[in-house]
Amino acid sequence: MGQTIWILGDQVCHEHPALAAGSRTDDRVLMIESRARGAHLRYHRHKLVLVYAAMRHFADELRADGWSVDYHELADTADFSEGWTRHRGDFKADGIVMAEPNNGFERDAVTAVAKKFSLPLTLLPPVQFLVGREEFLAWARGKKRLLMETHYRRMRRELGILVDDQGEPEGGAWNFDAENRKTFAQWRKDGVGAPPPPRAKPDAITRNVMADVERFFPDAPGDVAAFWLPVTRKEALKWLNDFVDERLGNFGDYEDAMVAGEPVLFHSVLSPLINLGLLLPRECVDAAVAAWRDGRAPLPAVEGFVRQIIGWREFVNGVYWLKMPGYVNGNGLNAHRALPAFFTTGETDLNCLREVLGQVLAMGYNHHIQRLMILGNFLLLAGVNPREALRWYSEMYVDAHEWVMAANVIGMALHADGGFMATKPYAGAAGYISKMSNYCEACRYDPKKKSGEGACPFNVLYWAFFDRHQDRFAHNPRTAMLVRGWQKREASERRKIVEQAEEFLAGL
Ligand code: FAD
Ligand code: SF4
Repeated sequence: MGQTIWILGDQVCHEHPALAAGSRTDDRVLMIESRARGAHLRYHRHKLVLVYAAMRHFADELRADGWSVDYHELADTADFSEGWTRHRGDFKADGIVMAEPNNGFERDAVTAVAKKFSLPLTLLPPVQFLVGREEFLAWARGKKRLLMETHYRRMRRELGILVDDQGEPEGGAWNFDAENRKTFAQWRKDGVGAPPPPRAKPDAITRNVMADVERFFPDAPGDVAAFWLPVTRKEALKWLNDFVDERLGNFGDYEDAMVAGEPVLFHSVLSPLINLGLLLPRECVDAAVAAWRDGRAPLPAVEGFVRQIIGWREFVNGVYWLKMPGYVNGNGLNAHRALPAFFTTGETDLNCLREVLGQVLAMGYNHHIQRLMILGNFLLLAGVNPREALRWYSEMYVDAHEWVMAANVIGMALHADGGFMATKPYAGAAGYISKMSNYCEACRYDPKKKSGEGACPFNVLYWAFFDRHQDRFAHNPRTAMLVRGWQKREASERRKIVEQAEEFLAGL
């Protein structure tokens, strides 16, 4: 008898380690679509379609490649336990072999299944990350503060990416931020426009999944008919190539710009695919570096993209394994406000929020700066409970997984981890939003007005936030000056601003 190779929905990877080590004649692949797992949160329908369609296509590819696959669809599987009971009735394996789950709670769940069926469980190192978990932990443990930049330079050198023979950075600098990150006004002046957002066409298998998702998740947000993402390895490779050909060249320049009606601009939309295993991080980096070597993309753009993948992506995964299980419960700023209802309807008169929420409700996607400096910024300034915020992000995004959400939401956006991820909070007033986007042009509020009738709510919320947390941020060298400036203002002026912020929050 052979082994059961259990493949989870976010491990549909052509280089899956259990397949590489397995036997087509003795082993059997098991894949389960669990209705209970899919209904654990109110996931966006595009996320559900993406995962199940990628799983069904992957199963078909494995069968075509000579594997025996035991596949349990939504229609006939209430939960993992039911799928496993039927699988055991059919195939008496000697043990379970799988890639290490990407999330801690999944590792607990598969361990419980192995125990329930008294089967030895072998977990193989995942290939979906470039840095091994133990390796990152060995580097990070005992450090008082972890800097992404230090990790990133170490990775560049270790992996030999964009470094010369001496281990020095290509182009003479580790980053080109001064050249990247142009404002909205520069984007408009440059006249580069934006390529149409990418879109994949659903085939018959995906259309069946769309019908199932509609049937089994009637309360989930999102319109299945508008599903737009690739679900196979072949489509994912084309998606990567199209990004490199059409958008990578401008990626760095407009990385932080936001334009109404342009959901993607020059971003890659690769996270939904990399996070499921349809693409490997190294091949995405290699494709970008090759484009620079061939003269198809400038170094600042390529370095900016490489930094996101081998820098941020690997770093947040490492922080997750370093800090879990407690990390997702962090509430370092003592924030307890309920999530405003408009986060689920998109109906608000703050135009920046309306634009960005409308986009995520329709597509399950926002690019980074929208997630951080519009939504995260608002949740931070409004003092929304980090657990509620995390739940909302987990539900809405097609690329959401606990390992990536934890540090991004709790650490980066909400500063709820006591400042471990970021030395200062990512807080911004309307000046930042009106510089980086055109959202304010069509807004009923005035971004330049600091308080009073018609003033942008971000302006009063910003100062009320620093007023609320002045004791903490007065002692932070990166915010001390700002807090001192606030404290020097007339008491009556400060009171007026704080009261206006409180009034706004009370009306949410
Ligand atoms: P690009 O801008 O094209 O970047 C290229 C790639 O770099 C991405 O595909 C991704 O793989 C990687 N990357 C870039 N930044 C990060 C980062 N901070 N953390 C991890 N990987 C990164 N990313 C997710 O994958 N899933 C999430 O659920 C998620 N939620 C987030 C929530 C908040 C509040 C914030 C601030 C960030 C979040 N991110 C998340 C990180 C980042 O915003 C997304 O990875 C990125 O926007 C995905 O779009 P893209 O593929 O077009 O990215
Ligand atoms: Fe957002 Fe304020 Fe600008 Fe309106 S004025 S779009 S609320 S930043």
